[in-house]
Amino acid sequence: MADTAMYAAKEKGRNNYSFYSPEMTEYAVHYLTRENELRKALQQNEFKLFYQPQVDTKTGKFIGLESLIRWQTEKHGLMPASEIIPIAESSHLIISVGNWVLTETCRQLREWIDRGIPLLRIAVNISIRQLTDGKLPQFISDLLEKYHLPPDCLELEVTESCLQDDDICLLTLKKINGLGITISIDDFGTGYSCMGSLKQLPIQRLKIDQIFVKDIPKQEDDCAIVSAIIALGHQLHLKVIAEGVETLAQYNYLKNIHCDELQGYYFCIPMSAHDTEEYLISAAKSGNFEPLKQLPPH
Ligand code: C2E
Ligand code: MG
Ligand code: MG
Ligand code: MG
Repeated sequence: MADTAMYAAKEKGRNNYSFYSPEMTEYAVHYLTRENELRKALQQNEFKLFYQPQVDTKTGKFIGLESLIRWQTEKHGLMPASEIIPIAESSHLIISVGNWVLTETCRQLREWIDRGIPLLRIAVNISIRQLTDGKLPQFISDLLEKYHLPPDCLELEVTESCLQDDDICLLTLKKINGLGITISIDDFGTGYSCMGSLKQLPIQRLKIDQIFVKDIPKQEDDCAIVSAIIALGHQLHLKVIAEGVETLAQYNYLKNIHCDELQGYYFCIPMSAHDTEEYLISAAKSGNFEPLKQLPPH
């Protein structure tokens, strides 16, 4: 309850003192109701994972997927992540939801490998609470063992807030990275990364936030920001991926300034597991699939 009220107050903005108001109760009730619905959804297996392809900029070939949660409801149809994650994050539910996402991602990957699809990398979004919980490295290492997966087929996407001098988060990320799982900073540029500490972080990839991609190549300031992020990433020997690529003009611009990888509606929208499988099969058949080098153990 405290978390729920805090969330309501936080949503009104920082430095905004909030005394009791009837809307707050309404808000809290909405959150509690939704939290209960989500708990039930988890028990009744109503969550689904959608997958969005990522491509190599130079070759245009498929190189990996990002898994994105959805909620299949009878009443409202398919609900987006924005209806699930903020509420799960304001309660302990995010741990169970996050564990479900990781488990389902690994289970699905093993199923695809068993059906002859080449090995690929899947990026999974991780919330800060999953990192402060401390059990994540063991959980992930158990999953890799259970589904016989090599560690480099998994990538964790964390936001800059997870990397701010929090000893527990950093220790957790270092342990996970030590397993051979890569870490990517999601929504890069929107948080408060300390430039100096970037080189000490256990990260391999920067993911440029779509807010900076939206108006390139027209918006000069955004072009400057995107170029600077790519230069910074490359100087630090990191790969740089841009999200939210919707147009050929954005694609060409990002290619010219040597952004390594791209993701967005221009290439593909997030798809159900079934549609993703068809996409993967067709990419593999046409030679448009750049598989991970390593063979999966049996
Ligand atoms: P994100 O990780 O930054 O994911 C990118 C979001 O942009 C996704 O929204 C994706 O569907 C959308 N997107 C992809 N291409 C384009 C494009 O070309 N244009 C535009 N306008 N949007 C595009 P989605 O799936 O609704 O997810 C929203 C956010 O929810 C994610 O942002 C991530 O922060 C969070 N999220 C999603 N799934 C999970 C999850 O399993 N666990 C956690 N902790 N968070 C998740
Ligand atoms: Mg992401
Ligand atoms: Mg993002
Ligand atoms: Mg985001």
